[in-house]
Amino acid sequence: MPNAMLIDLSLCVGCGACRTACQEIHHFPDEENTALNEHNFTLLEHRELKDGNEMWVRRMCQHCQEPACASACLVGALEKTKDGAVTWDTDKCIGCRYCMLACPFDIPKYEWGKFSPKVRKCTMCHAERRITADMSVGSDGYLVDRHGKQLRIDGHPVKEEDREKVIEMTTAADGSRASACSVACPTEATKFGDRDQLLAEAHDRIKSDPDTYVQRVYGSTEVGGTSVFYVSTVPFEDLGFITKLEHTPLPEKTWNILKHIPNAVVTAGVALSAVYWITSRREDVRRYEEEQKQSSTEK
Ligand code: SF4
Ligand code: SF4
Ligand code: SF4
Repeated sequence: MPNAMLIDLSLCVGCGACRTACQEIHHFPDEENTALNEHNFTLLEHRELKDGNEMWVRRMCQHCQEPACASACLVGALEKTKDGAVTWDTDKCIGCRYCMLACPFDIPKYEWGKFSPKVRKCTMCHAERRITADMSVGSDGYLVDRHGKQLRIDGHPVKEEDREKVIEMTTAADGSRASACSVACPTEATKFGDRDQLLAEAHDRIKSDPDTYVQRVYGSTEVGGTSVFYVSTVPFEDLGFITKLEHTPLPEKTWNILKHIPNAVVTAGVALSAVYWITSRREDVRRYEEEQKQSSTEK
C-alpha cells in the first residue's frame, strides 16, 4: 500500500513539533531552523503575506512518484519503495551529487563538513516505521530484520534500547505506523496515510470550502505526481512554491536523452564523476588536515 503525506498549510501554526520530532528520531542537533541541510530534513519558513497576514510553510522531500533523483543516481543509492517513500542508501552513495542537480525541488543535501561526505534527505521515516517490538537483536546489540539484515536509520544501526522510543514516535493515535513528524503534529496540519485516501481527502477539503482553499492540490500532478500533497488558503506562488513544473515525470526525459547516448559515453560519465569525486575528496582531506593542524597549534 503506497503511503503519502498531506500538509494543510492553513492548519500549520508553526509550532515546530514536526521538525523537533525529525531531529530527535535521527539524533540530529537542534540547531537553528534556517535551511534544509544534511541534518535538517524539514524546514519551517515564516512568510509575510501581501495582505499583512503571516503563514508558516513546511518544506520537505516530495517523494516523487517517479523521482528524478533516483533516475540520475549512477549507483542506485536512491530508490522509490512500494511504500511510497524515496529512500537513500548511504553505503551505495558515492557523493557524486547528480541527484542534487536532477531534483526539481532542490531537496537532497550534501555533507559538506564531513570527511566522507554523502547526500541525505527525508526518507518518510521508512526504516523507522519498519521497526517492530518483536524484531530480532543481533549479537552486537543492534536490530536486524527477518532476513538477518541490520536495520539502519539515516545510515546508522539501531540500538535495541532505542526501539521503544522509535516505535512510540512513529505510531499514530489509531495504532497505525506513520512518520514521526505527522505523529508529533498537534493540529493535523501534517497527516500520514494511504496515498489514494489522502489525495481524495485533499480534494474534499477544497470542495467543502471552495471560498477559502486555493483550487489546487500541490503534488497531485507536478512532475507526474508526488507522495507529499499540499493544500493552502494562499496561492502557492505567493508562498515560494515552484508552480510551473511539468506534469510529465522527469525521468522519462532523462531516459529519452540517455537512451541516445552510447554506452561508451555513459561509461566515460561514470569515470569522469569518479575523477571529480577523487579530486574533491583530496581537497576535502587537505582542508581537514589544515583545520586539524590549526586547532593543534591553537591548543
Ligand atoms: S523531491 Fe527531489 S529528492 Fe525528493 S523524491 Fe523528488 S526528485 Fe527525489
Ligand atoms: S517523514 Fe520522517 S524523515 Fe521526513 S521530515 Fe518527517 S520525521 Fe523527518
Ligand atoms: S507540527 Fe504541525 S502545526 Fe506544528 S509546525 Fe509542524 S506542521 Fe505546523
